[in-house]
Amino acid sequence: MTYIRLPATLPARLREAGLHVVVVGDWLATGRPASKGDFDPVGVLNHHTGSFDRSGDLADDLSYAKHLFHEGRPDLPAPNCHASLSVEATVYLGAGGRANHAGTAKSVGSVAAGDGNELYVGIEWMLSGTQKIPADMYHAGAVFNAVVLDLLGSSPQAAACHYQTSVTGKWDIGDPDGIPFHGQKVMDVDKFRRAVASVSAKPKATRLSNFWDGGPQWDVRILDRAAEQRDDVRAVVKRIDVAVNKLPKNEGNTLVGQFVAGYKKDRHLRMGLLNTAVKNGRHGTVEHVRDEIRHQLFDALPKR
Ligand SMILES: [Zn+2]
Repeated sequence: MTYIRLPATLPARLREAGLHVVVVGDWLATGRPASKGDFDPVGVLNHHTGSFDRSGDLADDLSYAKHLFHEGRPDLPAPNCHASLSVEATVYLGAGGRANHAGTAKSVGSVAAGDGNELYVGIEWMLSGTQKIPADMYHAGAVFNAVVLDLLGSSPQAAACHYQTSVTGKWDIGDPDGIPFHGQKVMDVDKFRRAVASVSAKPKATRLSNFWDGGPQWDVRILDRAAEQRDDVRAVVKRIDVAVNKLPKNEGNTLVGQFVAGYKKDRHLRMGLLNTAVKNGRHGTVEHVRDEIRHQLFDALPKR
């Protein structure tokens, strides 16, 4: 028996990845009871709702999402998924426990056959099955899959569509630009996994310049985390740590003392230096950023 809850950090992680997230109700506590089965997900299963979603109908989308999370169908108790994605590329998040979305699942990608509601996080794309998937929505779906798979410790090979796992002939996600499947056109999952893999890649140097030019979704802590994930930046930070620890612990030298105390007190200071480096336009290469940090470190030290 294993029944987990999705990480409470999921909404924050999705937002940090640039998604617009609407949390519906007490999402974490929402789920099928453990008496109905386990929940130990290793993959993400993508579905379509089967209803045409018009762009700009935000109130309709929210009420539809609530229906999926809280009402369900007479033959299929809610929640019917963990998340739902509208054509406006908004993610509605409404369940953190087991959901009724997958039924019995065939093996696909890196995920074994079994109880699909145990094995998968389910996301319902608000699509009729024959309507064109907007590029923004497709991208948001790839980001959602990437963030959840990362949290689950799985690779993009654990992203799948319901048509691949269904034992009852489901054909979602339908995609007019997709590949043939039993007389329908469905999403090309190989292509989708490549999109998931490309958004899962570690933040690149360009991400730092994006911060400076970027929109309101970026804040300092997001940059900190992105920077910390970069091996090269982490190496610089480590070297600064070593340098700081070597500084003389001379109480009489107040400037050094203040610098070391401030540095150790504020765990964001190191990245703060990096932020300043970025702010100063030093985002061309890692070397530029490294030089900027070094200069600032030296500027903070007393002149002999
Ligand atoms: Zn489905």
